Amino acid sequence: MDYETIVVGGGPAGSACATFLAQRGHRVLLLEKEPEMGFKVGESLLPALWEYWNKLGVTEKIEAAGFPIKRGVWFKTAPGADYLLRTDEFPEYFIRPYTFHVDRATYDRLLLENAREKGVEVLMGAAVSEALFDGGRATGVAFETAPGERRTARCKVLVDATGRSTLLSSRLSRRYSHPKLRKAAFYTHFDGAGRRLNEDGSTLTDIHATEGGWLWCIPLRGDLTSIGAVLDGDFVKASGRSPEDLFAAAVQADPEIAAWTAGARQTMQLHRIPSISYLNDDFTGDGFLMIGDASLFIDPIFSAGVTIAMRGAEFAADAISEALRSGDSSAAAFKKYEQKIRVPISKITRMIVNWYEIMKRKDSGNIFEWSRSSPMLRERLIVLLSGGYDKIDLDAISKWS
Ligand SMILES: Cc1cc2nc3c(=O)[nH]c(=O)nc-3n(C[C@H](O)[C@H](O)[C@H](O)COP(=O)(O)OP(=O)(O)OC[C@H]3O[C@@H](n4cnc5c(N)ncnc54)[C@H](O)[C@@H]3O)c2cc1C
Repeated sequence: MDYETIVVGGGPAGSACATFLAQRGHRVLLLEKEPEMGFKVGESLLPALWEYWNKLGVTEKIEAAGFPIKRGVWFKTAPGADYLLRTDEFPEYFIRPYTFHVDRATYDRLLLENAREKGVEVLMGAAVSEALFDGGRATGVAFETAPGERRTARCKVLVDATGRSTLLSSRLSRRYSHPKLRKAAFYTHFDGAGRRLNEDGSTLTDIHATEGGWLWCIPLRGDLTSIGAVLDGDFVKASGRSPEDLFAAAVQADPEIAAWTAGARQTMQLHRIPSISYLNDDFTGDGFLMIGDASLFIDPIFSAGVTIAMRGAEFAADAISEALRSGDSSAAAFKKYEQKIRVPISKITRMIVNWYEIMKRKDSGNIFEWSRSSPMLRERLIVLLSGGYDKIDLDAISKWS
């Protein structure tokens, strides 16, 4: 089997990159290890995504899926310090000034189906066991569609979109831990939990500071709510408590979330990621590149993961398309992609570091407080947190912090 490009992983990064390549006339194979898409964390989206849904030609399907509308974020940085940032305060920046809370099984499936419709060959239940190299150049993959049934496929360009599995950066020993952000995540779903609603019935993401970290509360379709805690690694270790105890204590310590979950039923086991953040200084190589979480992941506080993954997918598709046309698929040829995607990554990273400073200082002298009295800061903060990374000069925000 020979392809111009093989994309490994059918999350938002992989399916978007494969679709963009098919739209540019290239022959693409996408391999996804799961036979069908299932539960995944990463349910709160950003308004910047409309641009990508439009480009991918999937907007109508996303709108018809019945996901709850999300109109912003309710941040609670300390007891009594609540900040509502509504994305429709500055509606002119995005195609639509709202977005959705999604169950990822449905969202990822819609993007994958769209990829197939746009000409991508999609193979589900195909787990890649190995990237094949000739010298330092990636030439294809070995994968299994059933236990013991090893198959291979060759390509000119290999895209690693395997998310936190980090197929290539693990193999090449490029993945390393973030020196400062050592956070763990604990999360699950509840049926019948209370939630904060806007007057029109639309929803908000709730982010509440708690001892050792913060909690999220994301209203999903029907009566389902996603609740998670992100806690400092040292806090987790020092507590000596089980994940279940830690999570329950964090929920109970927040009067609002405790009340919302009081009569609710937990619908799945508690999931845990012991170490959320990881870095990687080099996303490309001869004949390959890494996109989305397969490149790096910083922190979920501002719900940027899916947006950055899909944005990077387009930058990568541009670089790959040019490489296939020119015949130069060297690491150097792919560097353009990496330079472009590192700009939004570094902007959101600075905001993340700022957030944890606010958490540490526990005072009200923070960017959210200042945004109440400075309309200019408020506009920039909301646009940035909506995913408008290229619409905002971060230094214009940083001077406040
Ligand atoms: C605690 C937490 C909370 C988060 N909350 C949010 C949020 O609210 N909003 C947001 O936007 N982002 C959030 N994120 C980030 C978000 O989940 C990711 O950034 C996003 O899913 C990245 O998309 P991706 O396509 O790169 O990877 P993924 O969505 O992980 O997709 C990777 C795909 O590759 C497949 N795969 C893996 N290995 C192989 C293999 N060997 N062969 C074939 N297929 C393979 C997997 O099955 C998977 O489908 C959160 C992350 C964490 C850790």
